[in-house]
Amino acid sequence: MSSSIVSLRHLTRQFGEITAVENVSFSLETGAIFGLLGPNGSGKSTLIRMMCGVLPPTSGDVYLFGHNVWKNPERIKESIGYMSQAFSLYGDLTVEENCRFYARIYGIEAGTQNQRIEDILNLTHLSNRHRQLAQTLSGGWKQRLALACSLLHDPQILFLDEPTAGIDPVARRELWDLLFELSTQGKTLFVSTHYMDEAERCSKIGYLQNAKLIAFGDPKTLKARPEVTPIGMKRYEISVPDAPAALLALRHQEGVQEATLYRGSLQVLAAESITQDEFSQRLGVPRGELHLKEAQPSLEDVFVSLTRENHDYGSYNDDKLPAPTEEPEITNTEVQRTRLLSFRGFTAVLLKEFSHILREPSTLFFMFLVPLLQLTIFGYAIDTEIEHIPTVVLNLDNREASRELIAAFENTRTFAIAKRVTQQKAFDELLRSGTAKVGIRVPADYSEKLLRRTQPVVQILIDGSDSQVANAALTASKLLGLTTSIRIAKQLGEQMQIAPARDLFGDAALPIEVRPRILYNPALESAHFFVPGLICLILQLVMLFLTAFAIVREREHGTLEQLFVTPVGRVGLLLGKLVPYLAAGAVELAVVLAAMIFLFGVPIQGSLFLLTALSLLFILCSLGLGILVSTLARTQLEAMQFAFIIMLPSVLLSGFIFPRSQMPLPIYGLTFAIPATYFLEIIRGIVLRGASLPDLRDPFVGLCICTLIILALSIFRFRKRLE
Ligand code: ADP
Ligand code: MG
Repeated sequence: MSSSIVSLRHLTRQFGEITAVENVSFSLETGAIFGLLGPNGSGKSTLIRMMCGVLPPTSGDVYLFGHNVWKNPERIKESIGYMSQAFSLYGDLTVEENCRFYARIYGIEAGTQNQRIEDILNLTHLSNRHRQLAQTLSGGWKQRLALACSLLHDPQILFLDEPTAGIDPVARRELWDLLFELSTQGKTLFVSTHYMDEAERCSKIGYLQNAKLIAFGDPKTLKARPEVTPIGMKRYEISVPDAPAALLALRHQEGVQEATLYRGSLQVLAAESITQDEFSQRLGVPRGELHLKEAQPSLEDVFVSLTRENHDYGSYNDDKLPAPTEEPEITNTEVQRTRLLSFRGFTAVLLKEFSHILREPSTLFFMFLVPLLQLTIFGYAIDTEIEHIPTVVLNLDNREASRELIAAFENTRTFAIAKRVTQQKAFDELLRSGTAKVGIRVPADYSEKLLRRTQPVVQILIDGSDSQVANAALTASKLLGLTTSIRIAKQLGEQMQIAPARDLFGDAALPIEVRPRILYNPALESAHFFVPGLICLILQLVMLFLTAFAIVREREHGTLEQLFVTPVGRVGLLLGKLVPYLAAGAVELAVVLAAMIFLFGVPIQGSLFLLTALSLLFILCSLGLGILVSTLARTQLEAMQFAFIIMLPSVLLSGFIFPRSQMPLPIYGLTFAIPATYFLEIIRGIVLRGASLPDLRDPFVGLCICTLIILALSIFRFRKRLE
C-alpha cells in the first residue's frame, strides 16, 4: 500500500456554519484517472483546494507522495498541477505569454523553455493560436490553455476542477481524449465533474453528496454493490413503442422501485418476480411489441441508490487506510519558511507585470494623466487660514524690555513660541528645517537703544514657503510693531515730556522698528506651498491604488489561487509586483516634478538628487501600503474603500491643508503614524527652503520607520493560501 500517491484522512473543512467537506478519507494509487463526482455545492472544489495546499483544512490530513501537505505545503508544489474551476490565466496575455510565465515560475531553464512550450502547445493543439490573447479564446480552448500551463513542469499528478463544465459536447469529448492520452503517459489525474456520464470514463470514482463521500471504488465493484440492486430485485431494459407513456404508467406499479428513460428505452429496477408477460399486461402493450432484457446498472444508478441509502464512506473506511510515513515537523516548517521567503519566480512575475501595464492603456492613463489633471485642478483651487505659528526667538538682549516685546508677540496668538535659542546658527537651522515658521531676532542693544531713543530694529524672519502662514505672520508682526511703538511713545511722553525717537536720518520716528522679511518665497505665492504637498498626495494615491488593485484583481480573477499552487516564493511574488510599479513611480515623479517647475514655476531650492531618493523611498512606502490593502480586501470594491480610509487622514492630518501645529494633542499624535506627514515635510523642505538631509533628519527617520513597518507587515500578512 506504500505506492499510494494520494491519501486523505478524516478531512473536514468548515466555513462558519457550513460544512463544505465532512470526514472524507480515501487513498489512490499511481496512474489512475480518478473521477470526483457530486452535484454543485457538494464540496468538490473545497476538497481539491485542500489537497493542493491552497486551502487549510479545519481538521484531518492530506498526504501526497507520502508527505503531509499541510505540514509543508511548498514541498509538493513542484510535483502537482492544478487547474481551478474558473478560468484563471491572464486574459490580456497571449497563449504563449501565459505559458512562458508559468515556465519561468517553475524555473524551467531558458535553454529548454522554447522546446517545452512548443511540445505542450502541440500536445494541446494550441500551436497555431500561440499569439492569440487568452481572453479571446472560446471555452474549450481556454481549458486547453489552462491544461497546457498546468502541465509545463511535468507534474506527477494533475488536479482538474470541473474542466468540462460549460464547454460544448465536442470540446468535452476532445478534452477527455487529451486526458486519456496523459493517463497513458503515466500521469495520475484527479478530475472533478458534476456530469454523471463522465464517471464512466474514470478508472476510479468517488461520489460526494452534501460534503460526505458516499461512494468510492472502481466502476465495476460499485455497480456490483448490493445496495444498487437489492436482493429480490433486478434491473431491466424495456423497449416499447410509446416509451414516455409507459414510463408514467410504470412508476405507479407495485414492485417497481425505479424507472427512467434512457436512449429511448426504459431502465427499470423492479422485483424479479415480475415476468415479461406481466409487464405487457400492466402497461397494456401487446406482448410482441414489448422487448425486455436484463441490464447492468449504470454509475448513475449506483449514485442514486447510494444517495438514497445515505452512506458515509469515510467513516467505515478508517481501518483500510494505510498509515503514511510521518515526517519530523521542525525541519519541515523551516524548509517551508525558507521556501516561502525565497525570491523564486521574481523575474517571471516582474516581466508579466510589465506586460500587463503595457497592454492596458487605461493603467497608463491612470498613472500619468490623471495625476497631472489633479495637480492642475487642486493646485489652483485650494486656499485656507492660520493661527499659532511655531516661532523661534533669538533674544540677544534678554532684558525686561525685550522680554516684554516677546510676550507681546506671544499674546497675539498668531505666534506660538516653540523655541528660544541663544545662537544665530541654531536660529537659522530651525528656520531652514521648517521646525519654526517665524524667527524673532532681538538685537543685543535693544534695551540700550530704547533708552537712548535711537530706534532699535527687531528682525522678523518669516518662512514664505507657506503663503498663508507668512501672510498672517506678516500682518500680525507689523501690527504688533505699531502698537508696541505707540505704547512706548505714550509712556515716554507721559513720563518725561521728551521729544519722540528719531530715525537714522534724524527725523522723528517710532520708538522701535519691527522689520519683517519674507524668506524662501518672497512673493508669497500659494502655489509654492500647495504644489509640493499635492505631489506628495498624488504619488501616494496613485501608487497605493495601482498595487492594491493589481493584487486584488488577481485574487478576484482566481489567477492568484493558480499561482499559490506553484512553487513561486512569497518575496519573489511581491517584489516582482513591486519593482515595475516602483519604476512607474519614478517616471511619474519626473512628470509631476516637471509640472511643478514649468507649469507652476516652483523651482527646487535644494538637491534634486536628495529629493528623488527620498521620493522613491516614499513611493516604496505607498506601494507597501497598497499590498497591505490587498491583503485586507477581497474584492476591488473593498480595496477602493480601504484605500480611501488611508487617503483621508493623509489629506486632512498630514499638514497638507491644516498646519499640524494647530491640531488638538491627540490628533497631533496621530499625525506621526501617517507616512505622508514625513514626506510632506521633506518635499517642502527641499523644494522651498533648500533643506539638506541633516536638516530633515527627523522626518527622514520617521519615513524610514513607517516604510519598514509597512513592508514587513504586508509581507507578513501576505499568505500563499486562500482563507
Ligand atoms: P462544489 O465545487 O462541489 O460545487 P464547493 O466546494 O465549491 O462545491 O462548495 C461546497 C460548499 O462550501 C458550498 O455550500 C459553498 O457555498 C461552501 N463554500 C465554498 N467555499 C466557501 C468559502 N470560501 N466561504 C464560505 N463558503 C464556502
Ligand atoms: Mg466547484
